[in-house]
Amino acid sequence: MKLTLYHLYPDLLGLYGDRGNVLTLKARCRWRDIDLRIHPVSLGENIDFTQADIVFMGGGSDREQNILVQDLSSRAQELKQAVEDGLVLLAICGGYQLLGKYYQTADGHKVPGLEIIDCYTVAGPKRMIGNVIAKVGNPTHGETDLNTLVGFENHSGKTYLGPELSPLAEIVRGYGNNGEDGSEGVRYKNVWGTYLHGPLLPKNPHLADNILRAALKRRGYNSDLPVLDDSLEIKAHKAIINRFS
Ligand code: GLN
Repeated sequence: MKLTLYHLYPDLLGLYGDRGNVLTLKARCRWRDIDLRIHPVSLGENIDFTQADIVFMGGGSDREQNILVQDLSSRAQELKQAVEDGLVLLAICGGYQLLGKYYQTADGHKVPGLEIIDCYTVAGPKRMIGNVIAKVGNPTHGETDLNTLVGFENHSGKTYLGPELSPLAEIVRGYGNNGEDGSEGVRYKNVWGTYLHGPLLPKNPHLADNILRAALKRRGYNSDLPVLDDSLEIKAHKAIINRFS
């Protein structure tokens, strides 16, 4: 089995270990004899999203978001089409904000988004920083019994989801989308958007496998993933839960 992952702007987007998400997907594929090919994509590079199985975008500061927004806008139509066709997309924090309609910075400047997701983000006066624990409404297993996500957030942007959209999870500790409505991240088709860095996937192996399952299924492969020994990953996950409960 072969899958292709495009890592968008790894030179600009990537905070608090975000690249670890890509490494986790790679490792979990390798352990199951799935050949995951990773292509870093930077400004101006020609790519064809129809060839992608998974797209990953990490977080970045307002500065980086501004640098890449023009390049990203030129790809918006194609990326949106691919998402509608079931492309798997994982976007973290600054990358997540760019999936929406716009990101309004503290000085009132509106960075246009891709409009893939019905949401918008407005920078608030307070930075939302710290460890996050969030409940996943629909337990994601796998073979683990985890129904939480853990991670680390650091953003001033407050994201508001449109009425049709479901959040990825419900905040137990931390701020999530906006610190107001208890929502964290978004789920739409095969898109996962989240504020969780840390990186996210090493400590949330159940989510990593859900993402892989979605990508395999879309290509018509068998998506029953062989069980891995996730005892260390689950220990890391539970250490965060235990620390704050
Ligand atoms: N610039 C954004 C904010 O502060 C994103 C930061 C991030 O990706 N951690 O809201």
